[in-house]
Amino acid sequence: MLLVLVAGVLVPTACVLWFMNAAMGNERLAVRQKLTDAYRKQLMEISAVVDKHWAQKLEALKTVSGLQAAEAFSQLIRSGVADSAIIFDEFGKVSYPVSEQRAELSQQAGTPQWLEADKLEYELAQPQRAADAYAKIASEFSNATIQAQALQGRARCLLKASQKQRAIEILTGPLAEDKYRNAMDAHGRLIAPNSQLLALQLMKDSNQEEFLSLAADLARRLNDYSDVAMPSAQRRFLMQSLQQTMPDPVQFPTLDAETLAAEYLESQRPTPQPNLLTKVGRADLWHIGSQDKRIVMLFRTLHIDIGKGHYDDSLVRAIGICPADDSTAFVSIPVSKYIPGVELAVYLVEDPFAEAAGRQNAAYLWTGSLGILAIAVLALIVAGYVGRQMKLTRLKNDLIATVSHELKTPLASMRVLVDTLLEGRYQDQQQARDYFGLISKENERLSRLIDNFLTFSRMERNKKAFDLAELDTGEVVTAAVDSVSDRFDKADCQLDVNIATDLPKISGDRDALITVLLNLLDNAYKYSQDDKRIGVRAYSAEANVCLEVKDNGIGLSRRAIKKIFNRFYQVDQSLARKAGGCGLGLSIVKFIVDAHGGSIDVVSQPERGSTFTVKLPFVDTKTTADSPRGS
Ligand code: ADP
Repeated sequence: MLLVLVAGVLVPTACVLWFMNAAMGNERLAVRQKLTDAYRKQLMEISAVVDKHWAQKLEALKTVSGLQAAEAFSQLIRSGVADSAIIFDEFGKVSYPVSEQRAELSQQAGTPQWLEADKLEYELAQPQRAADAYAKIASEFSNATIQAQALQGRARCLLKASQKQRAIEILTGPLAEDKYRNAMDAHGRLIAPNSQLLALQLMKDSNQEEFLSLAADLARRLNDYSDVAMPSAQRRFLMQSLQQTMPDPVQFPTLDAETLAAEYLESQRPTPQPNLLTKVGRADLWHIGSQDKRIVMLFRTLHIDIGKGHYDDSLVRAIGICPADDSTAFVSIPVSKYIPGVELAVYLVEDPFAEAAGRQNAAYLWTGSLGILAIAVLALIVAGYVGRQMKLTRLKNDLIATVSHELKTPLASMRVLVDTLLEGRYQDQQQARDYFGLISKENERLSRLIDNFLTFSRMERNKKAFDLAELDTGEVVTAAVDSVSDRFDKADCQLDVNIATDLPKISGDRDALITVLLNLLDNAYKYSQDDKRIGVRAYSAEANVCLEVKDNGIGLSRRAIKKIFNRFYQVDQSLARKAGGCGLGLSIVKFIVDAHGGSIDVVSQPERGSTFTVKLPFVDTKTTADSPRGS
């Protein structure tokens, strides 16, 4: 029964909890999905902007495709399209920046005049004479390159001979002439700009007008990328040197790009992919190739402008760039089709679902607990009801069985006796009287039974009303004893009655208390074998009047004592039935005694006899006078 109840409570509760849990899980998933969709949409908008940005950069490459390499480089840098760039020719060879131009072979190198000047300068260390020798070469040869190289040698030797002023005059004078503009030295470097830088470095007064115009002229030339002759390494060197020479910084917008391109070309770089921005080595340097592979753009860092105003959401901690495998991102998408391996992600402030989940769990716990409580209470009510119904059914069955059995026996024996008498089957008047006596006894037994049933029935229906009055206990005991004296007056039965004098009055229902004593006396008689010794005592003790019925009968075990006041309980059913009991006597006794505010004790030992003591409280004259008890 208990198992069924527990299962009846637990199974539906578990089902309800499971259902609620699943429903809440689904709801959370739905909310998460909605949020994901909303943020993904936002990210896609940003990604479209990023795509557009890089598409524009790649588009800008087309505008420089017709220009010569250095100019294309310069334009890309100046327009801010890239941090730097490498320009290739149609064969895939770098055309800008290149470290050296192909040097025009020095035609004078093997001539005796040049050998002589070279020997004087380096072997004999006679700069003055070497300067003269170079001057002679410059005047003798008509080729501009040879003349420029000789003038350069002359200025160099004059410097070695400590004739600085004369050296400056050559550097700023003949060497600055337009015809030497594109003359190169043996290493492929332009002689004129190098001479200008040297002159500037030698000039003392940097505020001098000549100095300033010379510097401006050199700076102009260095910024002029249409001047194809100058190798990029020389340009870079001159830009850096000029910046160091000048007291005020000179602006070279392409210098940083030149440096970056040079570093890039020196490094072990992976092949740039057309239209895909990838990282170069470990540093934060990125490159991207044009579709036709003619230009590679370089970027010092990957700057992705994701715009502003994307954070005004209390849930979002940040929207940012992350590697493709960032598991802390709430939602992420590729940042742009031009940037592989980089994602655009939304990071949430904290798990927004944690608090909601906590709230939901609490609600879920409360609902679950209330559900369990409600089901448990309901189950208890049902169990109580079912229990009561079962008890009632059992009681009814017991009652029917007992009544039919108990009525049948005396009725049957009465019928036999009456039939015998009617048919005149008796020997004499004495036997007839004996038969009448037996009929009377059975009748009396029937009456007692029916009395008990009626009392029990009233008791069960709570209809038993007691007619309370001040009673003389002695008189009640005497009346009870009198009514059994005929039955007990036998050779094998001795009845001792002892009623104390001056017993205080009690408040009670006379007939009910007589029923109590009769039932006890009846039991004492029934459950004692031959040589019955039954004692009845009435005495007062501790504000109670005690009515004691004692026998020397079969006695009761401890276990039996606990049960004998239950309805229909009989220790030995066959013995009780034989003796004419129906298992109601003691329950009626207890009911009546309880209703009188008293108690009943049993002292018994198997085979030794039993003593039943009923204790009834004295009358409190004041209270009983005002409100007699009854139920
Ligand atoms: P019954 O009508 O069967 O006697 P009771 O309610 O009067 O029913 O008693 C319940 C049972 O208690 C009896 O069946 C009997 O077994 C036991 N009992 C009652 N009185 C005594 C007694 N004086 N001695 C031994 N057993 C007793």
